[in-house]
Amino acid sequence: MNDPLEGWSPVQQRTLNVLRRGGDPVIFNPEFVENVRAEMREALNHFAARLDPDEEIWVSKHRIASVLECEEHHLQPDEFEWTTANAKGTIAHRAIELLLSWPPRLGDPTPIDLVDQALARLADESRSIGQWINGLSPAEDADVRGQTAVRVTQFVENFPPLSPRWAPVTEASVRWPNIGPITLAGKVDLLFGRPNGRESRKVIIDLKTGRPNARHRQDLAFYALLETLVREVPPRKVATFYLDSAEAHADDVSERMLETAMRRTLDGIHRIIELESENRPPTRQPGVSCRWCPLGESCHDGLAYLSGRLATN
Ligand code: SF4
Repeated sequence: MNDPLEGWSPVQQRTLNVLRRGGDPVIFNPEFVENVRAEMREALNHFAARLDPDEEIWVSKHRIASVLECEEHHLQPDEFEWTTANAKGTIAHRAIELLLSWPPRLGDPTPIDLVDQALARLADESRSIGQWINGLSPAEDADVRGQTAVRVTQFVENFPPLSPRWAPVTEASVRWPNIGPITLAGKVDLLFGRPNGRESRKVIIDLKTGRPNARHRQDLAFYALLETLVREVPPRKVATFYLDSAEAHADDVSERMLETAMRRTLDGIHRIIELESENRPPTRQPGVSCRWCPLGESCHDGLAYLSGRLATN
């Protein structure tokens, strides 16, 4: 009999072991799931009553994390601009999406084939990344292609080959609820598996470069909560796959994880409303976000925190 893992690298096999199902089927108590959904609905209704009639609030993992990390930083204007550093993730995800649907008659694509196709498709879109790609000089274009191809290569070499039987999807958008002034939303890098009735089988993956940190796990717990609110069946597992080190850090989804994510999300929304709608003055909370805070040199607390970190490193 053929070995289904034949040709897989040790890293691919190790990653599969971290992500695969094991033991008994995972089935969450339906009453627990309904209680989470009911508590979230009730809380959002209370929050909505604090907003002006035409106000709307968009709640993402990034906004929850930023308001809980440092309120002063959270209120700074978002001056987002596309750069090679932040665009390569989006382009790589599109390249991986193309890999999933690549016609077999075209043979195995190389990472640079996938990146070129992804760039061509994104350049055709009216989204701001399309305008950014169309404005690149030849040298900048080569730089983006090269850096994104590294990311795609890391994924192709180290992640288990995604069988169509796993129902893999990239950049899947999720939002809840679909009415009302407060919307929780997210876009998952990669997910696979489908619930079988009430049995949890879905796995949510975030692709990251750099070192692990606590925020990555909190982001994934937020996605697990969103999935529970939308589909009524929690995912089985969440994992961050670190492309540079080819390591998957996975957590089984549990009632405790979902409850913690719910409390954290509600705390974040409460603070967002206090700061953005009710004009409560923000507090400063030095921490990792001082490293990319636009207040940088002008924030005494942040400078003290960063110099303390430098002294102890
Ligand atoms: S430098 Fe740090 S403490 Fe100061 S506002 Fe920015 S994130 Fe907050």
